[in-house]
Amino acid sequence: MTTIDPADHRQNLALPAFGPHSYVSCMQRTNADRETWDVVIVGGGPAGLSAALTLGRACRRVLLCDAGPRRNAAAAHIHNFVTRDGTSPDEFRSIARKQLERYATVQVLDSGVRRIEGSRGAFEVDLGESVAMARRVVLCTGMVDEMLSLPGFDALWGESIVQCPYCHGWELRDQRWGVLVHSPETFDHLAPFAAMLRGWTQVVHVLTTEGVQLPDALRAQLREAGAAVSTTATLRLSPNGSSLDAELASGESVALDLLFAHPPQHHVPLVRGLELELDPAGYLKVDPNTQATSTPGIHAAGDATTRMQSAILGAAAGAKAGAALNLDLATDPTLRGL
Ligand SMILES: Cc1cc2nc3c(=O)[nH]c(=O)nc-3n(C[C@H](O)[C@H](O)[C@H](O)COP(=O)(O)OP(=O)(O)OC[C@H]3O[C@@H](n4cnc5c(N)ncnc54)[C@H](O)[C@@H]3O)c2cc1C
Repeated sequence: MTTIDPADHRQNLALPAFGPHSYVSCMQRTNADRETWDVVIVGGGPAGLSAALTLGRACRRVLLCDAGPRRNAAAAHIHNFVTRDGTSPDEFRSIARKQLERYATVQVLDSGVRRIEGSRGAFEVDLGESVAMARRVVLCTGMVDEMLSLPGFDALWGESIVQCPYCHGWELRDQRWGVLVHSPETFDHLAPFAAMLRGWTQVVHVLTTEGVQLPDALRAQLREAGAAVSTTATLRLSPNGSSLDAELASGESVALDLLFAHPPQHHVPLVRGLELELDPAGYLKVDPNTQATSTPGIHAAGDATTRMQSAILGAAAGAKAGAALNLDLATDPTLRGL
């Protein structure tokens, strides 16, 4: 195995040796301690790219590793991100990577991280063909949506089946909307969610998958919120132009232009293997100010840490993690002069 060298990707600058002062210029840092990255960021979505920008602007040596599918792979556009409303996910990432190019201490690598070992100050990041050493790590690995076994769900996900009205609602306002309930775990949020959707459209139809029974009290709340509620389960979803048809067990069919669903999610294997503390909903438990996880030296940001999932919130959390780690590194007594 080879070691990924923090200085390899940039010009090797001839610089004076470090003096006794704790201040180190950006140029010096580019060339200092060539063995170890200040921070390895895993995941190059909005959270990881934003963390890299913050740390790059703080002259930190950063390796951003990204590989694998991104969460919004099925979506054509990112909405509700100020200045980027309507940008495609690919364009979003390519603009961010282009902007990172000016920061000489940041390297972006299209490579998956298999394993992380070691501890704060000396993490070994296994990239398969090589190992990178890092003082700190930021996990921005997103979440994996599990497709429901309902026939047709998978093919329509990201097109006419979506999770967030702020992301997709405005374009289809005043059209026929539905909410698909697949688990009693979502019952608590259902009536407020349906009431909220009625701000976009008059037509909100609540559907259930097989085996899910809505309690009578919940049905009443949904009707009060202005939603129609199906009495039998949905057996199949079929595309119908840019809309979809939901076939019910009763033999009826409900035509919808947009269907909301919140399928279960899981972490990527790398994160599962780190055995970090989770919150009750299964997301990485982080300090709200620093994004620090339960393992010293490992921070996390973005979808992996919350059900409040959006590109701009992920980017904000990434920036927060970056700033917290810069402070942490700057005040680490073992790193004076680096
Ligand atoms: C269909 C759909 C449409 C959406 N539309 C919108 C929208 O319009 N507006 C909006 O704000 N939000 C939208 N979202 C939500 C938004 O996509 C996420 O909230 C956002 O992408 C989260 O950013 P992130 O950086 O946390 O994770 P991600 O964007 O998922 O990025 C995580 C990255 O980490 C990589 N990764 C994972 N494991 C590893 C590993 N071991 N090594 C290296 N890399 C790894 C993944 O491949 C991925 O590239 C949408 C989501 C979905 C599902």
